Amino acid sequence: MADCLFKEALFWCSTGNENSLEVKCNLCPWNCTIKEGSVGFCKVRKNIKGKLYSLVYGSPVALNVDPIEKKPLAMFMPRTWTFSIGTYGCNFDCSFCQNFDISKNVPEIKKPSLEIITPEVIIKKAFETGCKSIAFTYNEPTVWIEYAVDIAKEARKHNIPLVLVSNGYIEKEAREHFYPFIDAANIDVKGFSEEFYRSMTKGRLQPVLDSVEYLFQLGKHVEITNLIIPGKNDSEEMICKFLDWIESNLSKTVPIHFSAFFPTYKYFDSQKTPPETLYRLKRYANSRGFENMFLGNI
Ligand code: SF4
Repeated sequence: MADCLFKEALFWCSTGNENSLEVKCNLCPWNCTIKEGSVGFCKVRKNIKGKLYSLVYGSPVALNVDPIEKKPLAMFMPRTWTFSIGTYGCNFDCSFCQNFDISKNVPEIKKPSLEIITPEVIIKKAFETGCKSIAFTYNEPTVWIEYAVDIAKEARKHNIPLVLVSNGYIEKEAREHFYPFIDAANIDVKGFSEEFYRSMTKGRLQPVLDSVEYLFQLGKHVEITNLIIPGKNDSEEMICKFLDWIESNLSKTVPIHFSAFFPTYKYFDSQKTPPETLYRLKRYANSRGFENMFLGNI
């Protein structure tokens, strides 16, 4: 009999300390060292008797039929519905999180839910609801990679495209395991400096850029979202560096979404983004030859 009813996690190892049951999670750049009985930074991966388990496998907290434009994806299968899945947990701690009710307010999960929503059921629901794709979205899909990959394998059998909406904060080995399954992705590039990432998300920028570049090199459909927070990441200098990076490493045709911020969660120091700021940034990007600019939340 299995010693635990949760799903054993991918990408972890023992720390090798023979007197402790401590493990290290290798899924994302936090590389959490997790003591027996504790969870990692994302709150959904737990060390139980020296093994790491996913606490959210098969237990989505959100299952919705959404227009694909809501992900947002503006140039992938337009005007179709996508079967959208999210669980609890996140590996960032953005003070301005717009989805904190599921990403950060994670309840203590003591036992697996009685009803596991299997990948087969997800595919069936997607078909029944007339969806043309499946989206990993709402919270950070990286922290439920085991479930996402199993759904992806099932979706492959039925030729259903997969959409990833992510912060891109994932280690190389896990990225190379997960991303080849994906057909289209929208990755958040939340601000173009390590200082912004450190102070506002507690993560780092470079692994995010590595993820975007990797998806692009794989030939996947990639779109980028940049939530514009007045006074924090809306300077012309920062936007200029962001566009320079896209021009050098991706293409000027990559769709970019500038999205308006609303004060929420723990960050109330900025006003909501004035529409004029977004219009100004779009004009600037257009003037540099970026063709596919979209504005969101206005
Ligand atoms: S996925 Fe979670 S437990 Fe693993 S390293 Fe990242 S934050 Fe830590």
